[in-house]
Amino acid sequence: MRYIPFSRKHLDLAMRKASFLGLAFGFVFALSLSACSVFPKADTGLTPTPVIRVETEATLQESDPPPPTPTKVPPLRFVIPTPEAEPISDWRPPLYPVPWAISPYDHFYFIRPIAANEINWPIASYLYGGIFFGNVVHTGIDIPSERGTPIIAAGPGTVVWADWGFFSGWSENKDDPYGKAVAISHDFGYQGEPLHTVYAHMSRIDVARGQWVEAGEQIGLVGATGHTTGAHLHFEVRAGENDFFHTYNPELWIAPPQGRGVLVGRVMGEKGSPLRHYQLRAVSFETGYTRRVRSYGEKVVNSDTFYQENLVLSDLPAGWYELQIENEGEDFRQEIQIFPGQISYFTFQGLKGFELDLPESPGIEVLTPIVDEEDE
Ligand SMILES: [Zn+2]
Repeated sequence: MRYIPFSRKHLDLAMRKASFLGLAFGFVFALSLSACSVFPKADTGLTPTPVIRVETEATLQESDPPPPTPTKVPPLRFVIPTPEAEPISDWRPPLYPVPWAISPYDHFYFIRPIAANEINWPIASYLYGGIFFGNVVHTGIDIPSERGTPIIAAGPGTVVWADWGFFSGWSENKDDPYGKAVAISHDFGYQGEPLHTVYAHMSRIDVARGQWVEAGEQIGLVGATGHTTGAHLHFEVRAGENDFFHTYNPELWIAPPQGRGVLVGRVMGEKGSPLRHYQLRAVSFETGYTRRVRSYGEKVVNSDTFYQENLVLSDLPAGWYELQIENEGEDFRQEIQIFPGQISYFTFQGLKGFELDLPESPGIEVLTPIVDEEDE
């Protein structure tokens, strides 16, 4: 059963793409369970005051390019490289080229901000929307990496912040929770809104504000500056305003490794309102491989405009899984297929249990791939 609509054209388009990234650096990796303590408490009555307004910073130099305008952002242009990628190792699958979007609702526009051959799945305990240290809401993902590991731009764009003080807006602030941080305003947007990515806790910054960078270009090194318990990269995706209140789950924006897909779900109570902190297990029928994740939905985190999700499991090896949720003492189970390079979607509602239908008519502008003429 296939429940994700995609046209032959989309599939064709996607299949003709091949990896252009060449990001196999083979860095030594050491897992360090570390996390940000970057963010305000969950229950302090946050008000949506933009905290980061880089577009209007008075410190912009005259030589800097004009700041990105918040409207009329061009959609991402799809380019289709031709060479077929070789697997870069037998333990780590190569990544799909970006932008990668087999379904019209998907938007895997970014590459991993750490060299691809690392085992750099987000730390499971510190996913987007998670609560840790008792009361801190996480507006990004934490990617474990050794201090000194190169951080690369997730997509092309203009550096709009490269300093201390990203959260406070005050570059002298060595106590800023993000530490040394870089923000990039991307050359493409989504649904008319600008896209930004944020990289925090760096030990070194290699770019300057106003500089244009390509996807994959080194922008600095992993560190432990700011409020963190250890070296890692804190990574955010922001759509619309470049502020703390406009983040989205990066796992819906970073292209998965080849052969892997992304599980996206919306877990609701009986009346349809999203439930927080509900645990879901996904168990592979073939291998028994098991992943657990909890639903999110705190005030400062946002759901995708189409999926309205409150739960994401990325980088699942393709295949059949059983989803398991316990609710009101009853076990609910659902078979679902994870497709390579795609999102598989489910909803769970109260005592009704699972459904696999996609959300109804999105009522949004769906991005259409545009093929660059020179690549035809
Ligand atoms: Zn973090």
